[in-house]
Amino acid sequence: MPKQEILQNYARLLVRTGCALKPGQELLLTAPVEAAPFARLVAEEAWAAGAGDVIVEWADQPVSRLRYLHAPLSSFESVPEWKRALLNGAAGRGAAILTLDGDDPDGMAGIDPARFTAWSRASHRDCKAFYDGMDLGRNVWCIAGVSTPAWAKKVFPGCSESEAVEKLWDAILYTARADGADPAAAWADHSAAFQARIKLLNEKQFDALRYTSSNGTDFTVGMNPGHIWAGGGAETVDGTWFFPNMPTEEIFTSPHRDRADGVVHSALPLNYRGGMIADFWIKFEGGVAVDCGAKTGLDRLKSILDTDEGGRHLGEVALVPHASPIAQSGILFYSTLYDENAACHLALGKGFPECVEGGLEMDETALAAHHINLSATHVDFMIGTADLTITGIAADGSETPVFQNGNWAGAFAGDL
Ligand code: ZN
Repeated sequence: MPKQEILQNYARLLVRTGCALKPGQELLLTAPVEAAPFARLVAEEAWAAGAGDVIVEWADQPVSRLRYLHAPLSSFESVPEWKRALLNGAAGRGAAILTLDGDDPDGMAGIDPARFTAWSRASHRDCKAFYDGMDLGRNVWCIAGVSTPAWAKKVFPGCSESEAVEKLWDAILYTARADGADPAAAWADHSAAFQARIKLLNEKQFDALRYTSSNGTDFTVGMNPGHIWAGGGAETVDGTWFFPNMPTEEIFTSPHRDRADGVVHSALPLNYRGGMIADFWIKFEGGVAVDCGAKTGLDRLKSILDTDEGGRHLGEVALVPHASPIAQSGILFYSTLYDENAACHLALGKGFPECVEGGLEMDETALAAHHINLSATHVDFMIGTADLTITGIAADGSETPVFQNGNWAGAFAGDL
């Protein structure tokens, strides 16, 4: 298939499957200026799907960087009126929110983190309607990747710029299951398999999961009573099914914050705040990370654990098969959207309220009483090797295979 046709299919996939755009609905599209030709395809597809309006918010990371370097700190402490009107207004009108991400992973290196913190706090306060619209299931939203020169050169440093951009596009289209003849059908199958596995996991209500791998991982994590596995797509309050992340491969829940024992070894390096942590291990006792080691970036790893009390406990357990396209690509993308979908992972820090019954209505005290970890941080790290075994242990001690040789096993295997 000609590349232009594949890109057009990808644009259609993001509009119709990712955002599930309805006739008359507005699309708020954020796109990097480097990806303008692709953003135009998205606009074309949105109009073809009957969009009520298409608003494009151009993003230019080098210009943002200049602002972070030179603007007074006070300008990060409140969001300007026009931007509030743009974001809150679109959310209030029920817009679909589509973000194309092509940021250079190193593009904000060296910026004072206090500025990001200030801007993030101001954004969540002044654009509350916009963020609540996504967090509380009122607006559909989707984040997807686009190839840009700076990101592509980071992923493929040995290639010329134009080669790297092409290679990154190929990787984006392959991992988003958008390079075949019918991406929408591929996603319908992908989604059905997600739902079947989630249903099975939720029915099983394992008391614990035991992980073993030849790299030394030998670890058991306890599950919460009534825990909920989630993943794949999401549903708005009015019942629209959409995909917040394209690609997405993980099925996840939040474990019991005080039940993790044993040692986990990393399967992939972790890019944290512009620096690498590689070949590392963490030892847990009673849910607490009590010891750790790393060939690279030990101080960075310790800084995650020392964030706060919750930084030493787990907030997420995610299952990703080694056979998934992202793992098979073997590419380190330096982007969470891709890398966290590359392998089974755990996260240190904050757990997810939606992963316990009634959690979205609970305050922090209630969440803590349900053993959901609380923390200011949430950092994913990959532990899914090609020979990983995961065994589900029921309350009566009986064992069920969940993963063998890095992939779904037993009742979880095959085309569900
Ligand atoms: Zn995850």
